Amino acid sequence: MIKKITTILAATALTASLFIFSVPGTQASASTQAKVNASILNIREKPGTTSKVLGTFKKGQVITAIQQQNGWTRVSFSGKNGWVSSKYLLPVKAAAKTPAKPATVTKPATYYVTAIALNIRKAPGTSSTVLTTVKKGEAVTFYEKKVISGKSWGRVKTASGKMGWASLSYLTSKAPAKPASKPAPKPKPEPEPSTPTAEPDVKYYVTGASALNIRKEPSTSSSVVTAVKKGEAVTFFEKKVVSGKSWARVKTASGKTGWASMSYLSTKRPPAYSVSGKTIVIDPGHGGSDPGAIGKGKTQEKTINLQTANELKLLLQNAGAKVIMTRTSNTSRKLELSERVAISHKYKADVFISIHYNSASDDGATGIDTFYDKTYGNEAELAKSIQTELIKQTGMRDRGVKTAGFYVVKYNKVPSVLVELGFISNPNEEKLIATKAYQQKAARGIFNGLNKYFD
Ligand SMILES: [Zn+2]
Repeated sequence: MIKKITTILAATALTASLFIFSVPGTQASASTQAKVNASILNIREKPGTTSKVLGTFKKGQVITAIQQQNGWTRVSFSGKNGWVSSKYLLPVKAAAKTPAKPATVTKPATYYVTAIALNIRKAPGTSSTVLTTVKKGEAVTFYEKKVISGKSWGRVKTASGKMGWASLSYLTSKAPAKPASKPAPKPKPEPEPSTPTAEPDVKYYVTGASALNIRKEPSTSSSVVTAVKKGEAVTFFEKKVVSGKSWARVKTASGKTGWASMSYLSTKRPPAYSVSGKTIVIDPGHGGSDPGAIGKGKTQEKTINLQTANELKLLLQNAGAKVIMTRTSNTSRKLELSERVAISHKYKADVFISIHYNSASDDGATGIDTFYDKTYGNEAELAKSIQTELIKQTGMRDRGVKTAGFYVVKYNKVPSVLVELGFISNPNEEKLIATKAYQQKAARGIFNGLNKYFD
C-alpha cells in the first residue's frame, strides 16, 4: 500500500517538473512523448473519469502527448485524439522524441506470425478495421515498415492474398521449426511467461466451464468482476503465467476488463449443440420406498440413478436443452410408471430417457444395454446412438441395443429409451458405478448420443 502511494507521488512530481506541453490552441508540433505507467490506461473522449472510454493503452507503450489540462493529457492514438490521466504517464527521453519515421520500403520478405492469432488491419493502428486474422506460424509477405506512436507496423500480404497492416511485435523473419509436411496445428496457448502474446481483438470463447469468472487480478483469490457464460466470446489482450497457471487479460462483450483462467478459453468457436432448444425428460428409475436393485456393498440403485440423471441434466442444460426430471429426490413418494409417462406427454418431450443400473443373479454379469420399443418414432436410431456413445465414453462391455416391453418406453408416445448403465449386482462393477467419475462418463455418453441423434 505504502509503495503504491510513493510511486504515484513520484510519477506526479515527474509529470509536473519534466513535461513541457503546449497550451490549448497552439500547434501540435510542441507534442512530446510519454510512457504508460499503468497496466491498462483508459483513453477517454474528454478529460475526466466519467467520460466515454475510446480505447486503452498498455503498460510501457509510448504515446504522443499533445496538451495537458488539470491533470489530464490529450493524446494522439491511431490518428484520433483522446485524454488520459497524467498520473500514469512517465516522460520519455529526448532521443525517443524523434518524429515517426516515414514508411521504410524494403524488399518483400517472408515473415512468420508469433502471436496466437494476428490481426491484419486496414491501416497501421490497433483501432483500424480488422481485414483478416493470420494464425501462429503462418507466413505473410512483408513489404514496408511504419512507426506509429512508437509502435512498428508492417504492410503485409497474407497467403490468401489479402493486403493490410500488422503489428511487427508479432512477426519474425525466422521460420518456425516445424515439419513442412504436417498441417498447421491449431493455435494453442503456450506456457511461456512472455506478455503480451497476442494483439488485442483476438476472440476467445468460453469453454469447459458453465460460467467463467473474470477477476480483477490474475489469481483465483482475486475479486470477481463479472462472469461470462459458456460459448460467449471475450476479447483477448495478453497472457500472464502466475504460479504455473496461465491467465488472460480479456474484455467482455459488456465492456468489462479483467483476468480469466486460460484453461477455459479457446480460440475455436464452440460447436452449437443439437440438443439446444430440445425438451428432454430424464427419468431416474425407482425412488422413494422403491430402492431398485441393492448391491452387496449396499449401493441403492435409486441413489445412483438420480446422481447420474443430475450429471446428464447439467450437461443438457449447459448445452441449451430444456430438462424435466420426473423426480429430484430419493425420499419423496414413489412415482408410478404411468405418472412418469404422463410427465413426458405433458411437456411434449422430444426425447424421454429412463436411467437405471442393472442386476442379475449371476454376479459376474457386466456391461451396458439400451432398451427401446418399436411402437413410436425412430427409437431404434435413438437407442443405437446412445448405446454407441455410452460404450465409447465408459469403455464398458457392449451388451447391445434391445427391445423390451418396459412400461415407460412401451406406453410413451415420444421417442424413449431405457438405459442400464452397469451391474450393481457385480461387486466390482458396483464400486465403479458408484463413483462420480463413472457417472459423469455415462452422462457424457448419453449426452453425445442425444446430440448425434438430433444432428
Ligand atoms: Zn432399475
